[in-house]
Amino acid sequence: MNQPQKKEYRQCIRCQQMNEQTDQFCIRCGSPLINRCSDEKGLLSKGCFKENPPEAAFCRFCGQPTIFNQAGLTKPFTDS
Ligand SMILES: [Zn+2]
Ligand SMILES: [Zn+2]
Repeated sequence: MNQPQKKEYRQCIRCQQMNEQTDQFCIRCGSPLINRCSDEKGLLSKGCFKENPPEAAFCRFCGQPTIFNQAGLTKPFTDS
């Protein structure tokens, strides 16, 4: 069996640049490409740092803001 290699890309949420699947940041504008939890490993915290869907403003696992939210790429819900 000779299956054709399907190349996967990660599209930048800000500038729509197609980046390599393994890229962590956009090569064109520097935006993060993976919407991770902002809760990194620290002295007191084990850290969550899980992957969330691109539209998530808050981590679905622990409720901390996502890095897309912190970078202003995803707007959190405001009851104004
Ligand atoms: Zn970009
Ligand atoms: Zn989290």
